[in-house]
Amino acid sequence: MIFDVEKIRQDFPILSRKVYDHPLAYFDNGATTQKPRQVIETVRKYYEEENSSIHRGIHYLSEHSTGIYEKARETARGFINAASTNEIIFTSGATGSINTIAFSFGEKFISKGDEVILSEMEHHANIVPWQMMCKRKGAKIKVIPFNEKGELILEEYEKLLSTKTRIVAVTHISNTLGTINPVREIIRRAHAMNVPVLIDGAQAVQHESVDVQELDADFYVFSGHKVYAPNGIGVLYGKEALLYDMPPYQGGGDMIDCVTFEKTTYNELPFKFEAGTMNYIGAAGLASALDYISGVGIDSIREYEHSLLEYATMKLMSVPGLQIYGSAPEKISILSFLMEGIHPYDAGMVLDKLGIAIRTGTHCNQPVMDHFKITGTLRASLAFYNTTREIDRLYDGLLRVLKMFG
Ligand code: PLP
Repeated sequence: MIFDVEKIRQDFPILSRKVYDHPLAYFDNGATTQKPRQVIETVRKYYEEENSSIHRGIHYLSEHSTGIYEKARETARGFINAASTNEIIFTSGATGSINTIAFSFGEKFISKGDEVILSEMEHHANIVPWQMMCKRKGAKIKVIPFNEKGELILEEYEKLLSTKTRIVAVTHISNTLGTINPVREIIRRAHAMNVPVLIDGAQAVQHESVDVQELDADFYVFSGHKVYAPNGIGVLYGKEALLYDMPPYQGGGDMIDCVTFEKTTYNELPFKFEAGTMNYIGAAGLASALDYISGVGIDSIREYEHSLLEYATMKLMSVPGLQIYGSAPEKISILSFLMEGIHPYDAGMVLDKLGIAIRTGTHCNQPVMDHFKITGTLRASLAFYNTTREIDRLYDGLLRVLKMFG
């Protein structure tokens, strides 16, 4: 099947704008993605015609709004094939989801001397909440290292798993290296020791088809704004039996059953974890984005993005003195690189003036930078609306950088 990227680009209004008189070439999709007209329209229509707080009113708009919110939950459930909507909790994003799990799971299941296994390629969002929890509980973090290609070393993982391990939390796909981790195998080995696993899918669901039941993940999290949806909405998937046993993370309206000054009883799942007025318009936008992705087809997206990755890798490798970090055979369309003797900020600023948006810095992955003994990289993270023509512009821009600073 031919992937009609020009047709897809027409759905994304921002892609036709100019930056410094150049057409925008947006390669910062790992940080956040642009929004299709369909999502923008859903949000606009919601504010213009449907806005009302959910779960609280018996009037028409409130009931209608509640219906849209719960339908969005069903869409999110279907997208990752969770068994039940009770397992889908809306949060503010992947960070909100991981903080919820680290606090709540930690409160219930982690004690002094216990261990949590993370990997060396985790985003800070999947490190810091666990550090905070471990400090509170007197537990310890153990780290799975990665090799020079950017692949997790499973033999080292095996050695870390022990009777002290209470949870394993790893990223599905690295936001700096692009590596697709063998999460099914990671989960299988943890389950053999009766240890639950959290998978951080912030860089995965927009690139790969995800089935949480097939993976047998205990928790799976992602952010809306990285899947073409509005900012401020995210998903926490958790197996119902685990969520049932876990205490709420935040208290407030909607998450309660009955409140007196002496005692509060909590609402049932999934509402127990949704305190306060939730981002119901964000949830509607998320559902619209997930429907959009499903319409394009996640397998077509994966195939097209893979062809972009191959093309971009070939072009970048032909730039003299350019080194790519992350060369795992299983990888998505993320390219982190450095140019010999050139500071990433200098390169990033030149590219910016050419209308090319790429990321510079540590990408919230300081341990990855420490591994390579570098202070940061340039990162081009490609989405299914990017083109080989734009990659050619990136290549030309890098040659210009080389001329100026090399
Ligand atoms: N995990 C990974 C792998 C990420 O790439 C990111 C964001 O870049 C996050 C977690 C945090 O996502 P958010 O800032 O949307 O909560």
